[in-house]
Amino acid sequence: MRTIERVADVRAFSRAARRAGRTVGLVPTMGALHAGHLALIRAMVRRTDAVAVSVFVNPTQFAPGEDLDRYPRDLDADRRLAEEAGAHVLFAPPVEEIYPVEPGVWVDPGEPGRILEGAARPTHFRGVLTVVTKLLNAVEPDWVAFGQKDAQQAVLVRRLIDDLLLPVRMWVGPTVRDPDGLALSSRNAYLDAAGRRAAPELYRSLLVGRQLLEAGERRAGEIAARVRARLAATGVLRPDYVAVVAASDLSPVDPVAGRVLLLAAAVLGGVRLIDNLCLEVRGDRVAPSEL
Ligand code: AMP
Repeated sequence: MRTIERVADVRAFSRAARRAGRTVGLVPTMGALHAGHLALIRAMVRRTDAVAVSVFVNPTQFAPGEDLDRYPRDLDADRRLAEEAGAHVLFAPPVEEIYPVEPGVWVDPGEPGRILEGAARPTHFRGVLTVVTKLLNAVEPDWVAFGQKDAQQAVLVRRLIDDLLLPVRMWVGPTVRDPDGLALSSRNAYLDAAGRRAAPELYRSLLVGRQLLEAGERRAGEIAARVRARLAATGVLRPDYVAVVAASDLSPVDPVAGRVLLLAAAVLGGVRLIDNLCLEVRGDRVAPSEL
């Protein structure tokens, strides 16, 4: 596996692969790779012939006062893990390579980027969509992989690709969890032992929402309120938002029907955790679904 730092070099790698008749896959990450990232890399290895994993802690998606400076970084471990998962290139550009100048042009997600995570982090998705556009233009992949763990991000990136006619196909991989249900996240490293024990309550609270749907409840507000109450009852997780929205475009659904996302964010000992379930609701049937 090669490590590449320059845009020109990763583009040359990608173009050479395609000239040789090979397809190219990209897995964008911020590093501190875990089994969730590795599942996305393996999915790209199965679908494409040449796989690049980008490791770039994107400063423009962090607001002042967020965790940019302490975000976990371990490039040597990332290199080893990406290679074991079958990646061909680790693209780890320095910040100046992606942002030689302050961006003058931004990719703005519009209203769906200002709700849910975007309400708490108003400039977050503008930073995400801008860097994803840059990474897609640098690597020019045939396929790009994202995780359902960050469901709003996946929906917004799909919209970016569709709205701007970007010539790339998108794969969304299911959320990889620890055995106790906690969704893997690089930020879980911020949790202390007590926080780590309490963190699976976020997922368990979402399961309460799914059980309500399975019992026939279709009022979105009632489901959100019950999940929120369950979170608050833990005494340690402070709920931010809980919502049931259409999986296609994050619009409100009430009564709940079709393919929906049940999303929640909560703060645990100063650490912000997010999680979601994607469900297909058809009549009185409720089934797990995919983004
Ligand atoms: P990050 O490094 O946190 O920016 O994540 C990079 C990619 O990995 C994003 O597409 C995430 O949605 C995805 N990802 C993060 N955590 C998980 C997980 N537990 N399961 C599946 N994908 C994940």
